[in-house]
Amino acid sequence: MHRMDNSRPVLIIGAGLSGLALGRILTNNNISNIVFEASSPERSQGFAISMHDWGYSPLLEALGGLSPQSMTKAVAPDRFIGGTGWVDLAMRDNMTGQILVEPDANARPAVVRANRNALRAWIADCGDDQLDVRYGHKLKIISGSMGNVQAVFENGAVYDGSAVVAADGVHSTVRSQVLPHIVPEVVPVVIYHGEFEVSRDEYDRYLRPVIGNANILAGVGDGFYTPITVCNITKTRVHLDWSYSRPASGENDPLFNDKKPEVQTREPPQALLDELPSRQLAEPWARYINSETIRQHSVFHWISRCVCMPTADALQAAQTGVVFVGDSWHAMPIFGGEGGNHALVDSTELAAAMIKEAAVDRAVAVYYRGAARRIQEAVRRSRSRFYVLHRPIAEWREIAEKRRAKAGAQAAD
Ligand SMILES: Cc1cc2nc3c(=O)[nH]c(=O)nc-3n(C[C@H](O)[C@H](O)[C@H](O)COP(=O)(O)OP(=O)(O)OC[C@H]3O[C@@H](n4cnc5c(N)ncnc54)[C@H](O)[C@@H]3O)c2cc1C
Repeated sequence: MHRMDNSRPVLIIGAGLSGLALGRILTNNNISNIVFEASSPERSQGFAISMHDWGYSPLLEALGGLSPQSMTKAVAPDRFIGGTGWVDLAMRDNMTGQILVEPDANARPAVVRANRNALRAWIADCGDDQLDVRYGHKLKIISGSMGNVQAVFENGAVYDGSAVVAADGVHSTVRSQVLPHIVPEVVPVVIYHGEFEVSRDEYDRYLRPVIGNANILAGVGDGFYTPITVCNITKTRVHLDWSYSRPASGENDPLFNDKKPEVQTREPPQALLDELPSRQLAEPWARYINSETIRQHSVFHWISRCVCMPTADALQAAQTGVVFVGDSWHAMPIFGGEGGNHALVDSTELAAAMIKEAAVDRAVAVYYRGAARRIQEAVRRSRSRFYVLHRPIAEWREIAEKRRAKAGAQAAD
């Protein structure tokens, strides 16, 4: 048994959602910890993510019973204009703009949008004591065993601690050292993502009539998906992004190259410029996701990677003093929005175990007992959700038709 000992801090690698949430809860409970982050404090991750109530509620509870409103006030993309991050869960046909399906009014999941930068800043600030985040610390080597670990950084700094928490994302350095056989699997999907800004006048004229007060305009086509989402909106400017995704069509797909790292393309590839017009998008997608306009956007080519760590591997790594949270052990396709939510739940559960258990090895065992199954199911779910979201339009229309018929029959009863 290795007792939690405040002279040996918990060494948290990575200041993403999982690392900051864990650091913040431990700090609020007087458990010594340091968060190490490879990049600088200025790094921006300004896009928005969907937060489910099952993802943020445990965090709010752990932060002292905060209300969801106090969070959305600080993190919603539309917070500067009094919004609450509202999400319209309707799915539209992006060739017509018509609503295809929407959840039952009585069975709507509670989802809000959060600007990821604002969410990280808010989590870091949610307490009286300053969170100890050391930027410019890129982990190089770890060694030791549970209760007694050492982390060496590329800048030469060396720290001793009670445990190393791998909160360092899908390309986790920690994981590559202790479990080198676990490598992220590339999901065969094409994803391009563009960021752009428009004036409030333009937004109100072309987007607001369709998107209303929502922060995301979800549109599906024949085997492809084109959401437009609000990252931040003020009285004068609106920062937006679009995504264009579809399953890869084999090895010779000109838009799918799993060997190439993610790149910000100055010039979107010709194959994308050729493909977009064939999609016959309706307004307002057509106005922004077209071959001419996207040349003015910051366009990113993304590779979607999955990690699903068997529990036996996680437990083996625990013997070397390592515990995983967030994408480092369960990266999942971004569609369906679960990765960030599970990152928060992981950290909340690990912190609760560390607060409750006197011994760090026992805390880690308790954490994995609860988290492992939740995570494996989530990765499976998010993979299958990708294929659901990218199904042929004929299937979407058939579903829409059946729902209309059912609603009609219920109304007649
Ligand atoms: C476009 C997009 C949309 C998404 N939408 C959603 C959504 O709607 N809902 C949802 O739940 N999830 C969503 N996700 C997924 C979600 O953002 C991630 O699951 C979540 O951010 C993972 O958090 P994390 O803390 O585990 O990892 P990360 O956020 O990746 O943080 C890891 C941190 O570790 C640092 N790091 C890496 N290596 C080292 C090292 N060697 N030393 C020190 N530091 C290091 C990195 O710089 C980084 O800051 C989306 C992701 C993307 C890209």
